[in-house]
Amino acid sequence: MAESAVVSAKGARRWALGHPWIYRSDVTEPPMHGPGSVLVFDNRGRPLGLALWSPSSEISLRLLDRDPTATIDRTWWRRTLETAIARRAPLARVASAYRLVHGEADGCPSLICDRYDRWLVVQLMSAGLEQFRSEIVAALVEITRADGILARNDVPLRTKERLPLETVLLHGDVPREVEVEEHGVRYLAAPWDGQKTGAFLDQRENRTRVGAIARGRALDCFSYHGSFALHLARGAHEVLTLDTSVAALERGKANAERNGFENITFVETNAFDHLRELDRAGERFDTIVLDPPAFAKSRAAVPGALRGYKEINLRAMRLLAPGGMLFTASCSFHLGKPLFLEMLQSAASDSGRRMALREIAVQPMDHPEVLSIPETGYIKGALLEAMT
Ligand code: SAH
Repeated sequence: MAESAVVSAKGARRWALGHPWIYRSDVTEPPMHGPGSVLVFDNRGRPLGLALWSPSSEISLRLLDRDPTATIDRTWWRRTLETAIARRAPLARVASAYRLVHGEADGCPSLICDRYDRWLVVQLMSAGLEQFRSEIVAALVEITRADGILARNDVPLRTKERLPLETVLLHGDVPREVEVEEHGVRYLAAPWDGQKTGAFLDQRENRTRVGAIARGRALDCFSYHGSFALHLARGAHEVLTLDTSVAALERGKANAERNGFENITFVETNAFDHLRELDRAGERFDTIVLDPPAFAKSRAAVPGALRGYKEINLRAMRLLAPGGMLFTASCSFHLGKPLFLEMLQSAASDSGRRMALREIAVQPMDHPEVLSIPETGYIKGALLEAMT
């Protein structure tokens, strides 16, 4: 029998509207025990379902199952994870690295699981979830037969849950670098010390989309280990690739070699400065990619972030040759789609170019953006054409 919690009408309404979180201020009678699963009741004593309980977090309860009679055990995790993983099955034909579990979007709140070939990288981001670590690992091994599972639990979010930041092996062994395939391109992911879980899997489909239209002279700004550049190099004559991270650029060079591309140049530089210099020098490109890090890490940072986004987009637009294409993205959760498009309009107006909106890009199917859970969506992108 699970322990219980009582929530206010406001808390109950969040679940009714399809959002899995109930905040601390809406928990009227918190559970008496430590983190784990808990049976949640409304203020009239009606059971609402089972949730993960995080005593130290502002996000106190995360919905697991609306059936109050469910038992959250290894069988439950196996069934839930199987459903999430089965959803990605078609991706195995085109890539060997993709997300298997996208947290709340897959009904597995605060859990991320990415596949890199025969290895998995997980992130357990709440105290409640940590109580089920062994059940989750056992279920993942059963379902995927993975050779190893690494926990990249070095995400700052864990401090809000009073959980330690650590990178630990949970099963088998995981190599420092794993070669993976993505729509015909091969690259090295770095599960132990790369960004996120070792690579940016969330731009996979946008990379192949831009690769398909790439031509002439191409520019990949904020390239990390050349992920877009590798796709651009298939259609473009030459690709200029910019990033500030030496480690990422080194891996980028290894990735280019791995694919036999000799037309990519990697430059360690601040993309803001470099774009300004290219613009001043009157350089021209046929294909440009802008995939910067999240400039807005909080709501308060949005105005400053917008100035940064506008600056790089304006420069990129000015650098396009007539007929050139710009793929531009933002992964700032706090910068919503309308503001992103407004920023692009404003940059286009100032650029003196006639820019056409050709496509709007969203997250790939392994990173589902659930409409009732805004936090599951963060990437937005646009493909623009310089008409003149
Ligand atoms: N396009 C990549 C992901 C980019 S993430 C992919 O698809 O895999 C953002 C990248 O920007 C990181 O690699 C980071 O090192 C780099 N970066 C951050 N600030 C930068 C700056 N001012 N100039 C150039 N690169 C920067």
